[in-house]
Amino acid sequence: MQVKILGSAAGGGFPQWNCACLNCRALRAGKFRGKGRTQTQVAISTDSTSWFLLGASPDLRAQIESTPELRPRMSENATRQSPIAGVVLLNADIDHVAGLLLLRELQPLSAYATESVRRIIAEDNSMFAMLQRVPGQLTWTDFTPRKTFRLLAPSGEDSGLRCRGLSLGAHFPAYVSSRRRSELASGEASLGLIVDSPSGKRLAYMPAVPQITDELVKEFDSVDVLLFDGTFWSDDELRRMQGRESNAQTAQQMGHVAVSSPDGSLAQLAQLKRPRKIYIHINNTNPMLNEASPEYLQVRAAGWEIAEDGWQFDL
Ligand SMILES: [Zn+2]
Repeated sequence: MQVKILGSAAGGGFPQWNCACLNCRALRAGKFRGKGRTQTQVAISTDSTSWFLLGASPDLRAQIESTPELRPRMSENATRQSPIAGVVLLNADIDHVAGLLLLRELQPLSAYATESVRRIIAEDNSMFAMLQRVPGQLTWTDFTPRKTFRLLAPSGEDSGLRCRGLSLGAHFPAYVSSRRRSELASGEASLGLIVDSPSGKRLAYMPAVPQITDELVKEFDSVDVLLFDGTFWSDDELRRMQGRESNAQTAQQMGHVAVSSPDGSLAQLAQLKRPRKIYIHINNTNPMLNEASPEYLQVRAAGWEIAEDGWQFDL
């Protein structure tokens, strides 16, 4: 399996349009030791001609154009074509699904989601009906947490990839109405994904983890690469950045375990032996983005890498 990291920032990207934090200011001024990043997006493939997206970021258009393998190929009688076969949706957050609207040009696609996430997108948000204007355009397949499912191209061809969703967060996005919320399963709100490659190698994709349980640690020690929630360095990061009086939420309230807190990921995952550990979904306020910072050095010394747009590896 080939894995491509097309985007590695949290929602808003780095820099973020309305943010003048230390990091965003320095990056815009060309004085930042580190890279800008688009919003988190991963793509996987077993044959490099047919690709599955993990989420659909609002930056997807630019991410496709900057990745030659994802650009359309000219074929004998069609100029409209895409190597993108499908998408796996792990939650209904805008940063994770808005890119679907960019894929609406009558292109056949497979979409995998929990029933709850599918209903929010397909039944409550009428714009997404543009993806289902003709038969065979977007085909939804519901998956159940913990149960393994296969990734199939719209033609039915088996990619060989096997996935399993893990329930992580119980909160649906704020835009979901309370009436709809009452009909949904909380275990289907926000998931992480385990992907098994035909090679026997295994990937864990965990961009939003509210807390680290013993069960999760056990899962992570069975994978070869762990892409883990690196959103916030500290729990009160946004509040400190925006001032105490601000209504900014804590990392915990937003469904993210902080990197550095005593019960954070650096400490809780220090004992992992097997996987290559990579932070992804990094908020623009996170000091570890700055390669001259003590936070960056601390993370690297602990054996973690910090994902950048354009990274790729084979599993
Ligand atoms: Zn910022």
